[in-house]
Amino acid sequence: MNVTFYGGTREVTGSMHLLSAETNRILLDCGMFQGRRKESEQKNRTIPMDPQLLTNVILSHAHIDHSGRIPLLVKNKFKGSIICTRPTNAAIKYLLLDSAHIQESDANYINYKTLRSFLYEMKNQNKKKKNEEIKSILKKDRYELNKDVINSLIKKNNLEYIKPIYTEEDANDSLKHFEGYPYEHPITIGNNLTCTFYEAGHILGSAISIIKHNNKDGKRSTIAFTGDIGRFNKPILKDPTLIFKEEDRDIDLLIIESTYGNRYHEPVAELKSEFKKVLTDTFNKGGTLIIPAFAYGRTQELIYVLHEIYNENGMEKKPVYIDSPLASNLTKVFGEYPETYDEETHHTFLEHGENPFYFNQVEFISSVKDSMALMQEDKSHIVIASSGMCEAGRILHHLRYKIHSPKNTILTVGFMAKNTLGSKIQELSAEYEKKGRKGEAPEVKILNKLYPLKAKVSTISGFSAHADKNELIKFLKESNLRIKKIAIVHGEEEQSLAFAESIKNEGFEVIVPNVGETISAV
Ligand SMILES: [Zn+2]
Repeated sequence: MNVTFYGGTREVTGSMHLLSAETNRILLDCGMFQGRRKESEQKNRTIPMDPQLLTNVILSHAHIDHSGRIPLLVKNKFKGSIICTRPTNAAIKYLLLDSAHIQESDANYINYKTLRSFLYEMKNQNKKKKNEEIKSILKKDRYELNKDVINSLIKKNNLEYIKPIYTEEDANDSLKHFEGYPYEHPITIGNNLTCTFYEAGHILGSAISIIKHNNKDGKRSTIAFTGDIGRFNKPILKDPTLIFKEEDRDIDLLIIESTYGNRYHEPVAELKSEFKKVLTDTFNKGGTLIIPAFAYGRTQELIYVLHEIYNENGMEKKPVYIDSPLASNLTKVFGEYPETYDEETHHTFLEHGENPFYFNQVEFISSVKDSMALMQEDKSHIVIASSGMCEAGRILHHLRYKIHSPKNTILTVGFMAKNTLGSKIQELSAEYEKKGRKGEAPEVKILNKLYPLKAKVSTISGFSAHADKNELIKFLKESNLRIKKIAIVHGEEEQSLAFAESIKNEGFEVIVPNVGETISAV
């Protein structure tokens, strides 16, 4: 078997590797690149091989940086199956349809901007009048673009038209190719080729895939692909697997992630007490707690921990709003797979007949009308909304209404990439706190308008869904796998290289592949 590395190679996003054995061409993940807009947009429009020649896809988990280019693959005539675990199969439709919706609105917005500047140049009126007139043609209301008018005017004037990378229809088409399987059962994925999924502990449905090839001459070779590996002892999900079945233990090539290959997280044990402190501080001031969070995984963890805290009594039980239709759907998916929960979850909730993701004070908001009413709510509450890095979505509106008041708290619980609104809020607030909150409050731009950042900003890093350096090494040393060779992927280059050095010292043979490089598993 050979593996060629195409994405998530010396970088975090765009996970994609091609496994070849005899006539089998199996793609491991088919993820989207995220980051600098222009650069990733171009990379996301291509699949670096002919999708018709691929036999099947193995999908490690549903996150978009592992699954997001699947609709494009199917649009380009991929005919095989997309093999994943049952929970991934249940969650994927919500994530791909959401991604398609984002692709479509991004393309619409770029087309709107092209046309707007074209019309602006054409018209010979005063500036304000021009702007108003152009908006009235191209927009239905303050927030909605008039798509049909924009498309026809772009064609009529021969302007550059940007097509979305894929549409909701493409995403729907791709869903027909998915097949969900249970953990720890070998699945035939090609000629003389099987795959067995083991729990990766990263997100509901995440899997470590053990892929075995039986040669015609009786030789066997095995590749293990970790996908993303979770943390140990976190609530809800079981820990990453350390005990593999005897027949799956001999690994010729292990492909492992390294997002935090050279960094350490706060201990999981301190999560709850830190969270309680933030709640007490905010409620004592009569304020509201705003938590930007990814809809899949992080939101459910927050609900779980809040449920635990509220069950303990002693804490004021303010209403908790989950303001995200995507998160509501994905929370339902979580509820359908109790067999994937760890013992602690069974012990704390299920044995008492409680659903971990539902309690009296929690309310899921879906309509825009209810969401708008909530933004203007002055009574102290908790709101969890996406996007996790505050780049889009309903969280922006909650920030708009609450960021100006020092009684409120913005709690960040996830990774904030450089240059996102989330990271700016963290940086500006840190500077302001350093000055003892003296002088003018810093200003942040939300939906093109400036707001003073007077709310308190707190961070809890222990929620991370990725193993840190210690936990990755724990997996390598404490799992019962017998590993011949390791390829390190899914990390910024410096993280992957530093991680390679650390594990070389542990006696492993290690490679950090370059894009396009092929490694054989023998
Ligand atoms: Zn992931």
